[in-house]
Amino acid sequence: MAEQSITAERESELIESTPKRLYINGEWVDAQGGATLEVNDPSTGRLLCTVADASPRDGWNALKAAEAAQPGLAAMPPRERANILMRAFELMHERKDDLALLMTLEMGKPLSDAYGEVAYAAEFFRHFAEEATRISGSYQTAPAGGARFLVAKQPVGPTILITPWNFPLAMGTRKLGPAIAAGCTSVLKPAELTPLSMLALAEILHDAGLPAGAVNILVTSTAGKVMEPLIRSGIARKLSFTGSTEVGRKLLEQASERVLRTSMELGGNAGFVVFEDADIDAAVAGALLAKMRNTGEACTAANRIFVHRSVIDEFAAKLSAEMQKLPLGRGVEDGVRVGPLVDARQLEKVDALVTEAVDGGAKVLLGGQPVDRDGYFYPPTVLTDIPAGARMRQEEIFGPVAPLTAFDTEEEVISWINATEYGLVNYVYTENLRRGIRVAEAVESGMVGLNQGAVSNPAAPFGGIKESGLGREGGDTGIEEFLETKYIGIAM
Ligand code: ADP
Repeated sequence: MAEQSITAERESELIESTPKRLYINGEWVDAQGGATLEVNDPSTGRLLCTVADASPRDGWNALKAAEAAQPGLAAMPPRERANILMRAFELMHERKDDLALLMTLEMGKPLSDAYGEVAYAAEFFRHFAEEATRISGSYQTAPAGGARFLVAKQPVGPTILITPWNFPLAMGTRKLGPAIAAGCTSVLKPAELTPLSMLALAEILHDAGLPAGAVNILVTSTAGKVMEPLIRSGIARKLSFTGSTEVGRKLLEQASERVLRTSMELGGNAGFVVFEDADIDAAVAGALLAKMRNTGEACTAANRIFVHRSVIDEFAAKLSAEMQKLPLGRGVEDGVRVGPLVDARQLEKVDALVTEAVDGGAKVLLGGQPVDRDGYFYPPTVLTDIPAGARMRQEEIFGPVAPLTAFDTEEEVISWINATEYGLVNYVYTENLRRGIRVAEAVESGMVGLNQGAVSNPAAPFGGIKESGLGREGGDTGIEEFLETKYIGIAM
């Protein structure tokens, strides 16, 4: 946790010392023609700095560097790859004050959330350092005899990794950790809104001894133009993406040309169910976490909160009281728990979703209007009586807005939860174990939080079903996404 008070001088010194160029083949290089893009502080709307803005030519250089480094990384002893990841894990902890502050400055999240993310992000490196030395295969006698089956795992090859702005550090380590552990080189493109965290991470990987070309970082304002030719080239054998379903669909189509392996962590529309037999105080605490972590800007955020009619008034009153207590402000200020949204577009979207629901008859218990100050602030908001056709029932809100809907029966609430094309995570609160298991099995999602409001853990398989994605990150399956299975049939 931050013990320091952040001064303007500390902010500008940190920005000054952060790398701002592309990281290609182990070197910091300018973009072709010296192009740059602006990085802003969403809590003030002001410019923080400019960073190199990659062109398609820079993208090509990065991919060629990854291709050239692939045989060396694949041949490196697993223990050495593990040691690099462990050193990077330790460096992330040593530099946690800088990493957390940088993330808060470019993304807006409160420092307490940023410190949490640094620890979570670093943990992917430790987890996959441990996995790197456990990659193994099998040996078997053919059922009919006369032959042996040798099954081995090999790195898929160079990879393209694309990450979003909401968890600028963790979404990077969640992909880089298994890629490095498996022996896959990569070109990583962070979101253009929040490139600084990933540039700082590149410096850490460099200092941890990662060979040149094993990881290349491309920042660009023209993601489509730069990445599409790389994806279609077939040089990379895998694409791992975290972002919107809309962009994921486009990338899947591009990846199909050369039949790339893909992992897709896409949108969510999480249901959060509170049954009449739930521990209401625990459910309120869980909803607060599932809703307010990262100021609601998470694909796992509780997007639709369903509360049994007999307890909805108590739940609504308690949740509103808790949400009202959360101090709003610049994420760098002491005690702030609600930061700004990431940009004007996100603020407009949240405002439009709330306005539409309220115009359709939703009741406002708390908040409901953008905050009148510099930056992109939306206050903690609680709504009830959400009209059936409201867009916020179908779309990700990505903001600190809790829409509550009363339900009467278990059957009804399961059907409402599943009435979405998304299937990332759902949360269920009940003290009845049988009901908890029954509902957890019936809801269509890759993950379920049973009496808990957060499910992310580097050692657990994170991912969605339906249009929330393909594949899993973390856990013991995370590394599989970066490995191919090779079967060698042996005549005897
Ligand atoms: P969000 O709506 O959360 O910003 P996006 O899916 O738009 O999510 O962005 C996630 C990541 O995908 C970002 O790094 C963004 O730059 C990148 N991206 C967006 N469009 C494309 C594209 N056409 N090709 C490759 N990457 C893209």
